[in-house]
Order: sequence, then structure tokens, then C-alpha cells
Amino acid sequence: MDTAATPTNRALSPTGDPFLLTPGPLTTSPTVKQAMLHDLGSRDKRFIAINARVRARLVDIIHGGEDYACVPLQGSGTFSVEAMIGTFVPRDGKLLVLVNGAYGTRIVKMCAYYGRACVAEETPENIPCDPEAVDRRLAADPAITHVVVVHCETTSGVLNPIAEIGAVVARHGRRYLIDSMSAFGALEVDARAITFDAVVASSNKCLEGAPGMGFCIARKSALAECQGNAPSLSLDLHDQWAAMEKTGQWRFTPPVHCILAFDQAIEEFLAEGGVSGRGGRYRANCKLLVDGLRAMGFETLLDDAIQAPIIVTVKMPADPRFDFPAFYDRLSATGYVIYPGKLTVAESFRIGCIGRLGATEMNGALAAIRETLAELGVTNCAPG
Ligand SMILES: *Cc1c(COP(=O)(O)O)cnc(C)c1O
Repeated sequence: MDTAATPTNRALSPTGDPFLLTPGPLTTSPTVKQAMLHDLGSRDKRFIAINARVRARLVDIIHGGEDYACVPLQGSGTFSVEAMIGTFVPRDGKLLVLVNGAYGTRIVKMCAYYGRACVAEETPENIPCDPEAVDRRLAADPAITHVVVVHCETTSGVLNPIAEIGAVVARHGRRYLIDSMSAFGALEVDARAITFDAVVASSNKCLEGAPGMGFCIARKSALAECQGNAPSLSLDLHDQWAAMEKTGQWRFTPPVHCILAFDQAIEEFLAEGGVSGRGGRYRANCKLLVDGLRAMGFETLLDDAIQAPIIVTVKMPADPRFDFPAFYDRLSATGYVIYPGKLTVAESFRIGCIGRLGATEMNGALAAIRETLAELGVTNCAPG
């Protein structure tokens, strides 16, 4: 570790690593990391049982009952988003992508790679997707077969109304896909209340496992229709599902350590009270952060009503002494890693509320921010 740049008041996690106030990879508990200290073969009975338990518990989180199946997949979250698009949208289908940030834009790009017909309904990055616009689009274009939405658009942290949009999609008799990557586990995705064919998320982010795998929870009857759709073998969720149902095994080398960590992470998620407990801690983190930043004069991008408790976008102060690279480096050296902005609507940076972090870490980060501002000589944090 870079000791020369390390202030004496450096905050450390139990493993000596900095706290990650980022949207992933993020800080995990020591016990989640310890769960990875085993080598199990892909055909090992213990591994197969753990894999089955992880899959079953993920279905339980959405109250999926017998109608839904969980199909895990190697890779980062994007692999699972791409697998969902390729598997569920048939070759003669047409996808409406609701775009209000980089992750929606990425789905449009996937459709170009796959040669899937696609139209985008765009909203500015600081505004939620609009169910009425979806209604108008679907009424005007009967060729649209599927609609996909990003639950929390991590670009800004904006919360999209997945239930309201789902109701519109169902009313028009079209199919619904959800990228809940950065929200799953902290915000409710309830299969009893929303009709959808598939939702994707990953082992990292709000479930606080290690990064390295994603998963799709799909309505079995919809998934059963998807044989032959996927233009990619490794990203074919129907094939992955059929093989796993038959043998309990993954088709290709499973991310064993990642699954062991994920099993432990889900255990800790359930012990925390599931979605309400996990979401409650993140909401408390988010409130501490937003209140603390506003008290220093910073402005957040989003109104509180549309802010998901996942990641907060902060407008860049206009003061020329606020040198973002220096601010970022000084905070990292203090033990708090934040995230640069990725917005087109405003110069900004982002601070995450998710991962194994609580009030102590959020207050620690705020104290480090105050000290850093003093060092840089910044007295006014108002944006331009
Ligand atoms: C993190 C994230 C993804 C997946 O990103 P990876 O870097 O591939 O893990 C997809 N969608 C959203 C909304 C995300 O926040």
C-alpha cells in the first residue's frame, strides 16, 4: 500500500482495504471473503447443493414461487443483461429500450451487435422514464414485442418506476424485461405485483457478494419459448437453464469461489431482514450522505423523490480550487474511494451508498470530505 500518501487518520475496513463508495465492485464483509477459501470441483455434491440453494433463494427474493427460475451466468453484470436481450427478444422481435443513462444506452448498443430491431425512448439523465411515453409508443407501434427498463439508472442514481411501466406494458400485451442490477436486493422487485419475463442482477452490488457472476430470474413459461433465440452459445440463458435443470451443473467452468461467497452474502442479506433490512440500511446511508453534503454546500443532481438509495450524483463545485483529481486522490488516500461522474447533463461526481457500509463509514467519508475541502482551500461548494 502507498504509505507515503497515507494520512495518519486513514480509515480502514477490517481487511485493511479502503472503503468502496462506488457502484461496484464494492465493499464486502470479511465473512463473505472468507467463504472463498475453498476449492470445490464443479461436480462436488456440496457445490451442487450450494448452487441450488443460491438459485432457490434468489427466486424467493422476488416472490417467484414455482413460476420463476434463476439462471446464473459467468461474467460481470453486462454479460447477463446481454444474455437476457439475446435470449428473450426473438430474431423477428422488436425491443423498446427506455433510456435515461449509460446502461440503457448500452442495451441499444447490444441490439446493434445482435441485429435486433430496437427503438429508444429517451428521457434526460435526471428524469425518470415516463410510463405515459411508453403507453404512446406502444399504441403507435404494434411491432414492438418487448420493453426493457433499467430499475436504478446507476449513471445518475435515478429511480425508474418499474411497476407503473410494467402495468402499461402488460395492458398492451407486450413482454417486459428489467435490468435491476444496481437495485436488486435493496429495492423490491415483486413478481406477484409486476408481470415480467425476466429480471437480471449480479452477485456484487446490493447483494454484497464478490463480483464475477450475474443471474437472470425468468418466468419459466416465457423462458421455455426461448430455445434457439440466442445468437451466442455462452450467453444462451435457455441452454444454461436446460442444462442446469438436468444435471444441477453449470455448462462451462463455474465461478466456484464467487458462488461460495454469494451463498454467504445471501445468508447475511437474509439475516439483515432481506430487502427491507438491506434497503433500510442503504436509505439511512443515503440520507446521511445527502444531508451531510448539503450541509457543506454541495448540491445533489436529483430531487429526493426520484433519488434511489444506491448512488448519489453531486454537482461539481464551481470554485476553481475544487480540483476533482486532487479531491479524489486525497479521499482515496484517506481510505474512501468515490466515483467520477458519467453524465452529459452536468459536471459531477458520484458517491455510492451500497456495500458493507453503515453510519460509521458514511460519517467517516463526510469527515474526510470536510478535511479535504479545507486542505484544498475550498470554502464554497455551490455548482456553477
Ligand atoms: C453495474 C450495472 C450493470 C452491469 O455492469 P458490469 O460492470 O458489467 O457489472 C448493468 N446495469 C446497471 C444498471 C448497473 O448498475
